[in-house]
Amino acid sequence: MSDFIEATKSVSNELACSGCGAILKFKPGTLNLVCEYCGAENEIAKPVLEGKIEEISLDDFLAKNHEQEEKIEVATVNCQSCGATSTFDPNISSDKCPFCASNLVVKSGSTSSMHKPQYVLPFAIDIKKAGDRFKNWLNSLWFAPNDLKHYANSADKLNGMYLPFWTFDCKTDSSYTGQRGEDYYVTESYTAVENGKNVTRTRQVRHTRWYAASGNVNNEFDDLLIEATKSLNKQKLRALEPWDVKNLLAYNDKFLSGFRTETYAIGLKEAYAEAKGRMEPEIESTIRRDIGGDRQMIHYVNTSYHNPTFKHILLPVWISAYRYNNKVYQFLINARTGEVQGERPYSAIKIALAVITGVVIAVVIYSLASN
Ligand SMILES: [Zn+2]
Ligand SMILES: [Zn+2]
Repeated sequence: MSDFIEATKSVSNELACSGCGAILKFKPGTLNLVCEYCGAENEIAKPVLEGKIEEISLDDFLAKNHEQEEKIEVATVNCQSCGATSTFDPNISSDKCPFCASNLVVKSGSTSSMHKPQYVLPFAIDIKKAGDRFKNWLNSLWFAPNDLKHYANSADKLNGMYLPFWTFDCKTDSSYTGQRGEDYYVTESYTAVENGKNVTRTRQVRHTRWYAASGNVNNEFDDLLIEATKSLNKQKLRALEPWDVKNLLAYNDKFLSGFRTETYAIGLKEAYAEAKGRMEPEIESTIRRDIGGDRQMIHYVNTSYHNPTFKHILLPVWISAYRYNNKVYQFLINARTGEVQGERPYSAIKIALAVITGVVIAVVIYSLASN
């Protein structure tokens, strides 16, 4: 614990502006820390760029005592409404939850320990660019409530958040049994009624001949991402892919300055089980290609996972949560690529007006045409 206090001190010393003493913040799109008050910029030490990205053996890790893994202690706030736990700016005492827009009451001195992330993709898109993307996306929506469009004008609705992810690499070997179907067509005759008479016609009917199939296939998975958060719509979050994980940098607190970080809500074992689930469709399609023919049935698959490895990383996302009719809508922006994904409310009034307008236009056209 005393080590932690030491580390915190040295980090905050490094984060103090030499010009005016304010806290330096990470500047998206650069490798610099910048002072919002006097404009001073400091480059984050270069060594973070060196060295090859290291993967950790999952089997070795799970065999070891979990308590020995490297953890960091962070000041956090927990949302009573959605359960998300994230870091916060210790200088503010009340705040809105970035995930569900409910009011947060920050109790002093609450901390959580989290796995020390090994790598991070720093923010590349700043709040201004993110705000523009967000506004364009909102303006492209049909039948959105008016206050939603006004909402877009305040860029402070966007929260810069580092989200925790696990990534897995793995080679798999799957043995399977199934059946290969080969289609053939048979000409069949049938009776139809035409002009009140029975006539004989022919048609081609598809049949399938099935043959037993079995074999072995190999797959290789690289940087399969599993989110360690439960606070966001999983489908929308996955739609933010791809992430340029080849550009990961060694973890450094300085990248996090000025942003919030969510602590992980999904542990390594659970994430690995989820990763296996994400491997399944790809293994299945490899098996189908291996079986060949016109159609396939898979009866049994046994997969071995060879030397799975993992990393714990942080990825940058701009988040905005919007409440409309007591429902929460989340908007996400990939802060590397600018990709926007969001849930959206519909305005019942606008839809009703559009339907009425449509009916009126139809009536007018009809009455003009019939004159
Ligand atoms: Zn300064
Ligand atoms: Zn919340």
